[in-house]
Amino acid sequence: MARRRALLSMAEIQFAAGALKVQPVHERARHTPAGPQAQKAIAALPMKPLHITRVASAHVMGGCTMSDDERLGVVAGDGRYHGLSNVSVHDGSLFPTSVGANPQLSIYGITARLASAAGAATHRQTGGAPKAA
Ligand SMILES: Cc1cc2nc3c(=O)[nH]c(=O)nc-3n(C[C@H](O)[C@H](O)[C@H](O)COP(=O)(O)OP(=O)(O)OC[C@H]3O[C@@H](n4cnc5c(N)ncnc54)[C@H](O)[C@@H]3O)c2cc1C
Repeated sequence: MARRRALLSMAEIQFAAGALKVQPVHERARHTPAGPQAQKAIAALPMKPLHITRVASAHVMGGCTMSDDERLGVVAGDGRYHGLSNVSVHDGSLFPTSVGANPQLSIYGITARLASAAGAATHRQTGGAPKAA
């Protein structure tokens, strides 16, 4: 069944990314460790429509986590990528993980703050004129 296969694929992705335990998005699911235990647990989940098998989604965030410590984050506190000084990230991926609530206003807020600071820094560096590429 497609839904069961999707739960297993999602668990495998999370284990591959380093998760020690995964809780599939199913009302009867419990945390399970990787390997045959996860496969067995997901295979045993009942798949009755509507009552206990809802399809849900989440606002996925955290792909470019912000931290001044480059061991903990992809970008620094000003949004600049640690590896390249002329690359900045200004979007929902900066959050440490999904915030669990509607994120759009927070994304607007952090983007406005970082973009304004980046613009002001460029302005200072170029003395007000746009820098030639
Ligand atoms: C159906 C739906 C309903 C939602 N409802 C709400 C809600 O009611 N309230 C709320 O707060 N949030 C809501 N959200 C979530 C909110 O829309 C997102 O969290 C937010 O837009 C994420 O902003 P972002 O800037 O991180 O990414 P995005 O808005 O996805 O922006 C990424 C941008 O990057 C561009 N892009 C991607 N790849 C490249 C590339 N290689 N080169 C150049 N550009 C690229 C894309 O075209 C896009 O414009 C909803 C999301 C969906 C899908």
